[in-house]
Amino acid sequence: MKNSRDYSIETLAVRAGQERSQFNEHSEALYLTSSFVFTSAAQAAARFSGEEEGNVYSRFTNPTVAAFQDRLAALEGAEACIATASGMSAILSLIMALCSAGDHIVASNGLFGATQQLLGTILPRFGIQTSFVSQTDVAAWQAAMRPETRLFFLETPSNPLTEIADIPALARLARARGVLLAVDNCFCTPILQRPLDLGADLVVHSATKFLDGQGRVLGGAVAGPRRLTDEVFRFLRTAGPTLSAFNAWVLLKGLETLQIRIETQSSRALQLARWLEEHSRVARVHYPGLPSHPQFDLARRQQHSGGAIVSFTVKGGRPEAWKVIDSCRLLSITANLGDTKTTLTHPASTTHGRITPEQRAAAGIGEDLLRIAVGLEAVTDLQNDLERGLSSI
Ligand SMILES: *Cc1c(COP(=O)(O)O)cnc(C)c1O
Repeated sequence: MKNSRDYSIETLAVRAGQERSQFNEHSEALYLTSSFVFTSAAQAAARFSGEEEGNVYSRFTNPTVAAFQDRLAALEGAEACIATASGMSAILSLIMALCSAGDHIVASNGLFGATQQLLGTILPRFGIQTSFVSQTDVAAWQAAMRPETRLFFLETPSNPLTEIADIPALARLARARGVLLAVDNCFCTPILQRPLDLGADLVVHSATKFLDGQGRVLGGAVAGPRRLTDEVFRFLRTAGPTLSAFNAWVLLKGLETLQIRIETQSSRALQLARWLEEHSRVARVHYPGLPSHPQFDLARRQQHSGGAIVSFTVKGGRPEAWKVIDSCRLLSITANLGDTKTTLTHPASTTHGRITPEQRAAAGIGEDLLRIAVGLEAVTDLQNDLERGLSSI
């Protein structure tokens, strides 16, 4: 598969990045080895110096990891991709590679909790400051820019309220001032949204979620132009948050079913969102595929469908929300998402439990809010499960 532009995304998900070994295996080979041997001292020296291309040590490169990187790069329409041990290590590696003390970041205030912690409390100790602004307010991003701003960082749709950031508008703003735009594409995956095509400079993934798709392994990735991913690689090979070969192999297999999973999960999420919107005990549904979503038109321009995450508020507060959760027999009570098994979460007491009530209120995350990450079960079974709790409040 020499030129990925010749193929559709479904085909790339199954075949991109694979090179057969001398054994002509049909499935991707798993190279569980920490290091690689050389034919001579001279070759060892040439490999270490970079004069000769080839594997040296799996902290730097590994053929199974390389296959995953190449496949994900093809899916995102990126020149190159660097895989990491987790989504958080992808974000950390990107920032450590491209920012220095004195630099400034503008980020959306609806980011994944650990990303907010990293930007808001850890990086300031190393002289990298972040201003948090509303996901949906382009003027606020512009106002937050400083001469030392180096990076825009956002996640769209946001978690759990599914707010949409206007990627082309923010890309134009960033580019005009020489600022890089990085998009965490975890919720959409390249099947539903390709941020690089929309003007972003870099895409970040928590491969732990939809890319694996079956809740098995942790992984992450940064994709974009080689001049930027090379910088990320230089940090990664030295600092070491590398993806393991085994996890890369699991993720390669996950990517093969990505398109059918995300499209099916997304269409079931839409059915569930419509049903919830009609339910007398539900106050409000947040789902980008519903015309009632404040950014329905923007979402339609930017994403192929609404995705698999639906959140909604129940009529009541924490007791009512918890009652819905506790009455479920099928939905899993867990904060993970992107799995084939549908999960149900109360963000205010779990994923967003550590931020202050004021921060939660500013982010619009009330005690009455529930988040569903729709999997592959039948919609009727999901509805019946939720109905037990909803009808009792
Ligand atoms: C889970 C998640 C992350 C972090 O990924 P890990 O693999 O858990 O480190 C980052 N961004 C988003 C949007 C996530 O959902």
